[in-house]
Amino acid sequence: MSDAVNAFMEGIIAKNPGEKEFHQAVREVVESLMPYLEKNPKYQKAKILERICEPERVILFRVPWVNDKGEVQVNRGYRIEMNSAIGPYKGGLRFHPSVNLGILKFLAFEQVFKNSLTTLPMGGGKGGSDFDPKGKSDNEVMHFCQSFMTELFRYIGPDTDVPAGDIGVGGREIGFLFGQYKRLRNEFTGVLTGKGRNWGGSLIRPEATGYGCVYFAQEMLGTRGDSMKGKVCLVSGSGNVAQYTVEKINQLGGKVVTLSDSNGYIYDEAGITAEKLAFVMELKNVKRGRIQEYAGKSKGAVYTPVDSKLGYNPLWNHKAHCAFPSATQNEINGRDAANLIKNGVELVSEGSNMPSTPDAMKVYIDSKILYGPAKAANAGGVATSGLEMSQNSLRLSWTREEVDERLHGIMKAIHAQCVQYGKEGDFVNYINGANIAGFVKVADSMLDQGVV
Ligand code: NAP
Repeated sequence: MSDAVNAFMEGIIAKNPGEKEFHQAVREVVESLMPYLEKNPKYQKAKILERICEPERVILFRVPWVNDKGEVQVNRGYRIEMNSAIGPYKGGLRFHPSVNLGILKFLAFEQVFKNSLTTLPMGGGKGGSDFDPKGKSDNEVMHFCQSFMTELFRYIGPDTDVPAGDIGVGGREIGFLFGQYKRLRNEFTGVLTGKGRNWGGSLIRPEATGYGCVYFAQEMLGTRGDSMKGKVCLVSGSGNVAQYTVEKINQLGGKVVTLSDSNGYIYDEAGITAEKLAFVMELKNVKRGRIQEYAGKSKGAVYTPVDSKLGYNPLWNHKAHCAFPSATQNEINGRDAANLIKNGVELVSEGSNMPSTPDAMKVYIDSKILYGPAKAANAGGVATSGLEMSQNSLRLSWTREEVDERLHGIMKAIHAQCVQYGKEGDFVNYINGANIAGFVKVADSMLDQGVV
């Protein structure tokens, strides 16, 4: 690695101690960008890289609430307003006990590049809380969301910062957050995306990240004259992204054999059909149960609990053609990546954010498989959030077909940008492609707007 990258990273680590996911995300981008910056000194002169790594604003607040037993609870709330050079801050809220400043800064940082790739006018942000919605009643989730919004409302707005969902924040949470915002501001605006259909939500938004990730895979396969038809696929997670990834793979003639949650994974060699997927959706979205129950329901499906002592995840150790990580960050390490290649995987399209460790990414690149990094492959979710914002501003709603067609067009455009900036002879390095293409638009806008 170049001295320039090391020197830059030393500064980042010193300034942001202990934020290891943020360091990881920045390093990956800086490694891609450094050769490009050395050829384009205008960016270095204006210290664009230094500025893009520094959030415009970080908001941190107390979230007190009372549980069903009448006990006072205290969580921590965050919003990282990372970059607004090309539009209002935009990015999800994550409610998960693992949430901390470093994780949200990595997500906000990646969001800046991802949002730029969508071609829509959206800056980057991210937020959330260490609150765990698992095991909480609807009443407790509502009280938490109301308390969270009672602080957050003063920093967001349809032209300032427009949050959405992420891990632990789905339609139910967005509803409670929106209700409280509307009450406090006394205005009905498109301040959040992922809203319900009856109150300003866009068709296809729930499906968008998963569908987009598969559209991106289809584009990558197209560069080798191939398609999703007949492909056996490994999918991790069983939440929003995983569910609609399975649905689109099935529609395009592929077969999904795995799903997981934080307790373990199921392997179903016969494939997770539309009917079995409907069971998973009911289990996860309504009953809020565990994926283990799938094994009881589907003959031949095998459940394997998580064993953290293994040092690898057996989910990634099955014969397959494609892998769609859709759970969380760093869920595929170097050993998992080697297992994927050994088992015949020729494509990885990332639904979750930063699911592959740097070691895993090296394995993909060395093996020259089709590797779609999260910034590009999962941008369909935020792109459709952008379409929801447009519909809210126009005060009308587009049909399902219209939104899906736009989403598909955006995923094709993102792929084309990655190819333009990432082509290395016959091979497309989608990491470099996504990082450079995402950077250029934001960096040029920052140059135009002066030192702010
Ligand atoms: P979700 O509906 O809350 O589902 C998350 C899934 O991942 C659940 O099955 C969850 O299992 C599992 N999971 C979460 N943390 C885990 C951990 N530490 N170890 C193992 N499994 C874990 O969330 P989602 O919206 O699908 O998000 C999944 C990923 O996609 C995240 O990386 C998110 O940032 C990314 N993403 C989401 C969107 C979007 O539109 N929603 C857009 C772009 C990217 P449990 O139920 O056991 O926790």
